[in-house]
Order: sequence, then C-alpha cells, then structure tokens
Amino acid sequence: MNTAVKEETVRVFFAIWPDAAAQKQLIELAERLEAVCDGRKARVENIHLTLVFLGEVSVDRLDALCQVANKVRDGGVQAFDFAVEEVHYWKHNRIAYAGTTKVPQGLLDLANALQSALFAAGFAFDRQAYVPHITLVRKTRCPAPSIELRTGLPELAQPIVWPVREWVLVKSGQANGRSGYTPIGRWPLAG
Ligand code: ATP
Ligand code: MG
Repeated sequence: MNTAVKEETVRVFFAIWPDAAAQKQLIELAERLEAVCDGRKARVENIHLTLVFLGEVSVDRLDALCQVANKVRDGGVQAFDFAVEEVHYWKHNRIAYAGTTKVPQGLLDLANALQSALFAAGFAFDRQAYVPHITLVRKTRCPAPSIELRTGLPELAQPIVWPVREWVLVKSGQANGRSGYTPIGRWPLAG
C-alpha cells in the first residue's frame, strides 16, 4: 500500500492590482480590443500586473513566503505610478495585453527585490527578464503577422495611470465554483 501523502499545494503569484478608476479604463480598452480581435476579455476584477509567478507552492511554505514579502517591505521599496500607454499582441499565445515603454524604476526595484529575496529563501520561479504586461483579451485573432505588432490594435488616446501603493500575494484557481484569483496577503510600498 502506498502510504505517501500527496503534498497540498497552491498556485500563487505576486502582483499589482489597478485601482477602481484604472480598472474601468482597462476593461473598456479590453472591450474595444475584443471588438477588433475577437477572443475573450478578462473579467474586470481579474485585471492585474504580475510581479513574480511562483506556480505551485506547498501550503506549508506559505508562511515562509509571507516572511519573504515582509522582508522586502521592510527594505522600503518606494511607491510609484504605473502608466499603460500601449496595447500589444503575442501571437504565440494569442494574448492581447496592455504595456508600457516607460517601466517605472519602482516597479523594477520591487520585482528585483522580490526575486532576490525569493531566490535567497529557496523559492523556485521563472527568472526570465521581467516584461510588465496586463492581459486584456485571451484567444484573440489580431490581424498581426509578427510575434508582436500594434498595427490594427486600438491606440490609447491618453495613458491609463494609477498610483501603486501596495502589492499582493494571490492564489490562482477555483473559488466559489469558478476559476479566479484570491488575495492571500498584501504589503504596502514606502513613501
Ligand atoms: P489560466 O492559466 O487559467 O488561463 P491565468 O493565466 O490568468 O489563467 P495563472 O496561469 O495562474 O492564471 O497565472 C497567473 C498570472 O501569472 C498571470 O498573470 C499569468 O500571466 C502569470 N504567469 C503564469 N505562468 C507564468 C510563467 N510561467 N511565467 C511568468 N508568469 C506567468
Ligand atoms: Mg496561465
């Protein structure tokens, strides 16, 4: 008889959530994109900017994960504003997303501080270069022949900006019978 107990894990990531005003503008942008590109727009409450994706983490390690976030908070990363200026399309996974050419230093500092502290604490994650993106529409059919092209996508008349004052740890998966995200911790930025 196999007596091994299957380890219980949760799928988690650190992220930033837009405020209500930015949420509204982002879902309106998603609706415009959906009209041009088909696909399925994100649910408004799910729109976010991922900082570090951890994937499956043992529930026994969640406390340690929160300690890592506490350490980063105590390091005092400064608050910043995030401005979405562009829409792009990734052909390989058929995602239309919002991005920026002016990545705020505070965002890079926060992502780097989290990555370093997670690495030091022995957490595994994808260490690819950080490309901030906000998924707006999935399974799109944008008229784009290359991997990444703006042609044919709506332009933003003006940037969508919000003040980033905290970051969250989010559980990804089933909640109340539908897939979604549940915040399980939040930490303030300094300043
Ligand atoms: P679904 O996978 O069910 O379509 P989702 O992609 O929103 O939904 P997750 O796969 O749990 O949910 O991903 C949560 C967040 O982490 C998303 O912003 C996603 O883009 C990002 N993410 C997922 N996998 C990776 C990865 N390997 N590297 C970096 N970011 C990732
Ligand atoms: Mg996914």
